[in-house]
Amino acid sequence: MIYLKTDEEIELLREANLLVGMTLGEVAKWIKPGISTLKLDAIAEEFIRDHGAVPGFKGYGGFPSTICASVNDKVVHGFPSEYELREGDIISVDCGAVKNGFNGDSTYTFCVGEVAPEVLALLKTTKESLYIGIEHAVVGKRLGDISESIQSYCEARGYSVVRELCGHGVGRHLHEDPEVPNYGRRGTGPLLKNGMVIAIEPMINLGKRHIVIERDGWTTRTRDGKPSAHFEHTIAVRPGKADILSSFAYVEEVLGEKSI
Ligand code: MG
Ligand code: MG
Repeated sequence: MIYLKTDEEIELLREANLLVGMTLGEVAKWIKPGISTLKLDAIAEEFIRDHGAVPGFKGYGGFPSTICASVNDKVVHGFPSEYELREGDIISVDCGAVKNGFNGDSTYTFCVGEVAPEVLALLKTTKESLYIGIEHAVVGKRLGDISESIQSYCEARGYSVVRELCGHGVGRHLHEDPEVPNYGRRGTGPLLKNGMVIAIEPMINLGKRHIVIERDGWTTRTRDGKPSAHFEHTIAVRPGKADILSSFAYVEEVLGEKSI
């Protein structure tokens, strides 16, 4: 069942998603060699609570933390830990917040210092593919148009698309219908309607597409041990042009010319 949101609900979703964007911006200030991912998690949780919201992931299905901190070959759902970031790492920070009963959900993958050129290129392509997918998130298109555009953009550049994990509807629940795969066929899937709110979140691998889930039941990594990148926006489907409810502006203000 796909719930179409009213304009009022979309404004509440924007508030929650902007707070997630601001939280990612706060985390961005601290990403450098030597900081633990647990410390980043504490910074995010405090920031969200200080802004009158609650972390969206903490306790969700038993997830222990405010952010998913997925370093290098981790695809998604990494637990924040004592691990201290090192020069050359990449870290995807996926963050959720609930405000006024609505969810925000957004992800940015950061470089720790200087990263290898091939890894930086993976990050850039993954981010570009997110915006290409968003271009298709307009009234009258089909979900498969989003999926196919992301897949073809990334595969044409030699990367592979994780199949087992998808984007999703967002609203009062963190994960609502429909699923939004990052692969598929044009002209297939649900018709996109005004007021659909979805998270689009390409998870793109430098090597092969296969993943392994670790024994903690959450942490997902690439089978071949090569890096994986992840960018995510929550958007509202509108006529002509999608409305992006989350924001990378706060992150990119901090990163400046180091933005992906
Ligand atoms: Mg997310
Ligand atoms: Mg999501």
